[in-house]
Amino acid sequence: MKEKLQLQKCAEKLAAAKKVAVLTGAGISTESGIPDFRSPGGLWEKAEVRNAITRDCFYGKPDVFYHHFNQLFLPWDDVHPNQGHQALADLEHKHGKWVGIATQNIDGLHQKAGSTQVAELHGHLHTATCPRCQNMIPMEAVKANLKEGELPKCDCGQFYKPDVVLFGDMLPQDIWHKAMVWMGQADFIFCVGTSLTVTPANTLILRRHSECTLCIINKEPTQFDHAADFVFHGSAGEMLTSFLDSV
Ligand code: NAD
Repeated sequence: MKEKLQLQKCAEKLAAAKKVAVLTGAGISTESGIPDFRSPGGLWEKAEVRNAITRDCFYGKPDVFYHHFNQLFLPWDDVHPNQGHQALADLEHKHGKWVGIATQNIDGLHQKAGSTQVAELHGHLHTATCPRCQNMIPMEAVKANLKEGELPKCDCGQFYKPDVVLFGDMLPQDIWHKAMVWMGQADFIFCVGTSLTVTPANTLILRRHSECTLCIINKEPTQFDHAADFVFHGSAGEMLTSFLDSV
């Protein structure tokens, strides 16, 4: 009953908002069948995985890096957006809101659902680039190399690096700046399916102005719950769909 009232109040704020900014994490895509890292029992508990998806590992032990990268991120071709991604796209197209989504995800599912303004803070899985000569190849070429048991190598001798942000990498500054502007201008911020433990992405919500409503939707509590106007611990897909039904 209390949650229903909270949901209604929050939906009213959303209905009144003109500009909506969204920060999403791996939790919005678990309902599409992509596991997150930090849920209990998740991959992040395995030290060898944690240590492999890093800048140091790419440069120091590219074979170990690509072994884990291939297993973790490359079997995602056949994944589809779920009702959570769809609800955010509908907010833009059916409800006429201005929506800017800053995502920590690299799965491309917001765009597949139809959202047009997506800032991919941690990159994407479309291409890989040679860190030495900046030559770029499609990820399909990387996959073909790995299938043959080879690491993807540029003519200059350097290994291609996937265009995702690894631990130890800088965030792409233009995209980061865009996301900061969206958060600063929004009068409603959704924060969905993120443990809010990865810096600097977790600091984005602190850009909000004093009149902006912050709503966190996550299965588990986060360290920023106390700072939010509304907090819902539940499924991203179900909660976002409920909001859209009430707006
Ligand atoms: P995260 O830190 O964003 O944590 C995921 C959170 O989502 C957890 O707190 C969990 O309780 C919550 N959650 C899980 N399923 C949910 C659901 N159905 N509804 C609501 N909440 C749900 O993400 P992470 O897993 O720690 O990943 C960190 C980084 O790893 C990301 O920033 C990304 O670069 C990469 N990653 C990306 C993907 C992806 O693109 N889909 C998946 C895994 C990891």
